[in-house]
Amino acid sequence: MAKDPPDRHLLLWDVDHTLIETGGIGTALYQTAFEIVTGRPVEHRVEITGRTELAIVAEALRLHDIEPSDVLIERYCGELARLYVENIDRLRERGRALPGAADALHTLAGTAHVVQTVLTGNLRAVALVKLRAFRLDQYIDFEVGAFGEDAPERAHLVAVARQRAAASYGARLTRMNTVIIGDTANDMIAAHEGGARGVGVASGSSSEEELRGAGAEITLSDLLDTTRLVEIVLRHR
Ligand SMILES: [Mg+2]
Repeated sequence: MAKDPPDRHLLLWDVDHTLIETGGIGTALYQTAFEIVTGRPVEHRVEITGRTELAIVAEALRLHDIEPSDVLIERYCGELARLYVENIDRLRERGRALPGAADALHTLAGTAHVVQTVLTGNLRAVALVKLRAFRLDQYIDFEVGAFGEDAPERAHLVAVARQRAAASYGARLTRMNTVIIGDTANDMIAAHEGGARGVGVASGSSSEEELRGAGAEITLSDLLDTTRLVEIVLRHR
């Protein structure tokens, strides 16, 4: 008789303002990619916090009266990824890993039964460069993550990551053993709608109170208490 698959804990990290900050490089590269692809400067600001790249670029194009065709979006994504690869040194100089991020990732990567990846609105290639710039990529299984090009809606990324992780690790993953750690209300909404526990970190522009208001089950001021983080991830509820 087949044995039950081993119990796993799927940990889905948000990237921007949870693990790293780009120090303005992210905005600069977005503007450059937009200008290269459309031939026009960015004139209208789009809300980017907690949203996916597909949603952001489609809205930006529409605001500039440009039809967001698949071809144009694909060109934009390719250009943005290329710019990040080219500018990794600038990113390293101007950006930073957030306090506690490296230790938390290192410790959780070494914790039995924890599958650690990212759930981010960033394109896969961009997320990889952002984490590689600060030597955080070594702790992440990028194969089972969910990224900006996988779906326009962040909540739909939870199922994408869960399917990939289940296929790769043979794990039974449910709301009980899937955790999102992020800094925005959108991360917490994605957790609830996608079927995961939401842990809010007030390292971005949202306070712990705001994150609780958006449905965070647990909030933290930062990632410095690694022991508590491990306990939160391993807890089944
Ligand atoms: Mg974020």
